[in-house]
Amino acid sequence: NYDSYLHQVLKKVFNTLIEKTHYFNELDAEVGDGDTGEGFERSSKACLAILHNLDLEHNLVESLTILGDEIASNFGGTSGPLYGVMLSTGARFLKKELSENTLKDLQQALQQGQQQIQHVGKSQVGDRTMVDVLVPLSKALEDIANQTDQQNKKEIAYKLIQVVKEASQKTSQLKAKKGRSRYLDGREIGKLDPGCEVIVAWLTILVENI
Ligand code: ADP
Ligand code: MG
Ligand code: MG
Repeated sequence: NYDSYLHQVLKKVFNTLIEKTHYFNELDAEVGDGDTGEGFERSSKACLAILHNLDLEHNLVESLTILGDEIASNFGGTSGPLYGVMLSTGARFLKKELSENTLKDLQQALQQGQQQIQHVGKSQVGDRTMVDVLVPLSKALEDIANQTDQQNKKEIAYKLIQVVKEASQKTSQLKAKKGRSRYLDGREIGKLDPGCEVIVAWLTILVENI
């Protein structure tokens, strides 16, 4: 029965996604089919149920893959399998490439995951999907990882939260070329993309707690 600091953080992430079920459903009801929240609710509950079986501290790579599979198979929609792809791809990268610069490793794992999402989802930057938040997040992490001067964790957390919030706001101004929103034919413009707001939610909890 594992329970590390990382377990506590992930529990907070999954509980936050569950708390926001209604918010994500409402956003998706405006521009899609209204199920983003319940998908994450189901997936988060499934992950919470197995979290104590995972040795996150000593076996992070395998644990991330297992959590990704759990999200993908319990979601029942587009985002779930894409998160599954992102986590398994990122984990595979971490397995091979661990260096002294942990932040850089995480950034590269995230970037590989994002590229694989784009490959599987056939999406480009600017198509109005979660990719439009993942790319600026990855870029901001890269900048931070490359800086030699020590920044304090609070500053980094604040900066990253700003980056994803701004990216989500910017994405709301785009016309959708992928996903269900594209059927709205422009009426989605000015409305937040649910997938982007999901990233704002998990990123905020992650960086505020690490
Ligand atoms: P659906 O109900 O249409 O299967 P979800 O409700 O699970 O989809 O997720 C919707 C979110 O998924 C969108 O807000 C968008 O950010 C993201 N998304 C949709 N299509 C793609 C895609 N091809 N690539 C990446 N992300 C996508
Ligand atoms: Mg949906
Ligand atoms: Mg759906």
